[in-house]
Amino acid sequence: MKQQALSALKKYYGYSSFRPGQWEVISHALDGHDTLVLMPTGGGKSMCYQIPAMLLNGVTLVVSPLIALMIDQVTALRANGMPAAAIHSNQDERINRDIIDRASKGGYQLIYISPERLIADFDIISNSIEVSLVAIDEAHCISQWGHDFRPVYTSLRAIKERWPDIPVMALTATADRLTRGDIAVALGLRHPYAWIGSFDRPNISLEVLPDPGKRGRLRVISDLIRKYRLDSGIVYCLSRKKTEDMHKALSDLGFRSVCYHAGMSASDREAAQKAFVDGTAQVVCATIAFGMGIDKSNIRWVVHNNLPSNIESYYQEIGRAGRDGLPAEAILFYNYGDVITRRSFAESSGQPEINNEKLDFMQRYAESTVCRRRILLSYFSEETTCDCGNCDNCRNPRGKFDGTILAQKALSAVIRINSREGISMVIDILRASNRAEIFSKRYDQIRTYGAGRDLGSRQWHNYILQMIQLGLFEVAYEDNFHLRPTPLGMKVVKGEQRIELSVFQETAYNRGRKEKAPAEKKRSQEETLLDRLKEVRKDISAKENVPAYVVFSDATLTDMVRKQPKDLDEIRQVSGVGEVKSVKYGRSFISAIRKFLGLKTGRQAGTSVKETLILFNSGMSAEEIARTRELSVSTICGHIAQAAESGEPVDFRRLVTGQQLATVKREMDKDPENLFKRLEEVHGIPSHITRLAMTELRLGTEASSS
Ligand code: ADP
Ligand code: ZN
Repeated sequence: MKQQALSALKKYYGYSSFRPGQWEVISHALDGHDTLVLMPTGGGKSMCYQIPAMLLNGVTLVVSPLIALMIDQVTALRANGMPAAAIHSNQDERINRDIIDRASKGGYQLIYISPERLIADFDIISNSIEVSLVAIDEAHCISQWGHDFRPVYTSLRAIKERWPDIPVMALTATADRLTRGDIAVALGLRHPYAWIGSFDRPNISLEVLPDPGKRGRLRVISDLIRKYRLDSGIVYCLSRKKTEDMHKALSDLGFRSVCYHAGMSASDREAAQKAFVDGTAQVVCATIAFGMGIDKSNIRWVVHNNLPSNIESYYQEIGRAGRDGLPAEAILFYNYGDVITRRSFAESSGQPEINNEKLDFMQRYAESTVCRRRILLSYFSEETTCDCGNCDNCRNPRGKFDGTILAQKALSAVIRINSREGISMVIDILRASNRAEIFSKRYDQIRTYGAGRDLGSRQWHNYILQMIQLGLFEVAYEDNFHLRPTPLGMKVVKGEQRIELSVFQETAYNRGRKEKAPAEKKRSQEETLLDRLKEVRKDISAKENVPAYVVFSDATLTDMVRKQPKDLDEIRQVSGVGEVKSVKYGRSFISAIRKFLGLKTGRQAGTSVKETLILFNSGMSAEEIARTRELSVSTICGHIAQAAESGEPVDFRRLVTGQQLATVKREMDKDPENLFKRLEEVHGIPSHITRLAMTELRLGTEASSS
């Protein structure tokens, strides 16, 4: 069975091995067991049900909460030659009925369906379709604990009740331990086989930039856009207003930006999404509403302009980058003001305890001075044994210094103003700001006014955050986020306790970037070829009106640059090039590569026969092959005859009719002289057909006589 699964993987997707967990899950599903699949975004969940769908008789139903996502998936599946369709309420009822009808006749192996529709259509589906597997995508939506609860998901319990013998596969990318337990119970899975994959996404580098300021933010984002000029990224903002501001600022700098938030009309949102997906836009400025339905594999970076409310959302959002496994970047801009905003959201959320706790964790991540990935993974209860080497703290470990004096200054400022202010006013006092409020409140009169002039406000900001983390201050969430000294803080003030702080490092955007912007660097040969291939992909995607990643992912193009295939046979060795796509798109990429290498782009001696055979076996007629290859029909038929002679199985009936074959045989038996001429002139059979017929006859005799 594994062999069959592997050949389906190669045939449809062009991949030669399974990722961790995929085969385990697939084999259990094929054996009829319920399964629970936890893999991070980009881990390859879809394969877990798509391969069984191709191997099992009957239909695999995939329950998916988002119509956009369904449509994307169906487009991608069809591009790989897999019979799939989607049933949802955004399309004409007649189409939905038609799909069910066709499915009942074996027309589809995979049907995506919204949860509402599945519940409503149970009877009609039960009566007409043979369902062999039900996959439930985004299964965490069933849990109240999750961050994405959808009430309709709770009715999915009915699946196991109505169809106890049909295996169910629940899949999700986000689940803390509580949610995990919930999923299996809520769906009524029976002794499910659970695959809990690692949530690590080592290809995404992690970085937090404390309080970068408006110019700093723009600078970082501009650098990213330039660095990945043929790919794209997402800037997540807290509010609609901030989204629009960011979009405007980036557009003003000349970048191709679009905006996406819940306040826009459905059609504007759709247009924005389309521009992003097809690569017209380099960056989308979005609220969290964006991205759930996006399966774009060449997102290279994600910036969080504001602090997210919990680690699950954050991890899911950064996980949209680098789904192809190539290096990607996640940068979070951290400003304490965001914590304040988020706290008030949490307080008024109806579940303040849970949400405050989740925010605490998020804040801990942002303020960490140790490996950030370990913090993320520990949140998902994953043990780590070493630092990741791919986060800012790992790359630039921060030195420590005795911060007792700094802490004493900050603490005494807070004590002198009777804990009546939050962090930014405290910094202003320490740095002797001239703002009017300082004077009206007479803060310029206290002894610590200006005591911290020697440090910048960013530095103070960072150090005070560290002091909060060390427990010298507490933040009075219920009282306008005023800072209050703790008993430990009082000990420090009195000199009874010393403390250490981590050195604050100004980040590159504030130092003035010395290194050359990546865009200015000379591009290597590989990069140039990759760019060419991306352009080819862009042309195809425009012509066929499908997203670029549906044509080929970045990972596939990168492998293509590595392997430099020069013909169809070679391009099939590239990861991600399946049968259908090799025939459909292969030639365009091969031509670009040949051109780049300075090789002839037209006919290709030596590989000609093989290439013709590949195209012929994909279902193209001799005429079509001749047209795409710019060769004559008789040459193509010659190739096929040659292939047959060297032992390749060839379906002659597609080229020579039974009648033609009989005529050739009769004439040959009568008189082998002038055979070609006679057949052509008397019987209207062109000579290349005669040649094929003769080959067939000869091979037939050989076969029967041996
Ligand atoms: P998920 O649904 O878990 O977010 P996907 O199923 O979309 O992830 O897969 C992410 C990417 O990984 C896709 O581009 C997919 O084609 C690729 N992929 C999946 N399985 C394999 C595999 N076995 N080998 C190579 N690439 C794979
Ligand atoms: Zn690290």
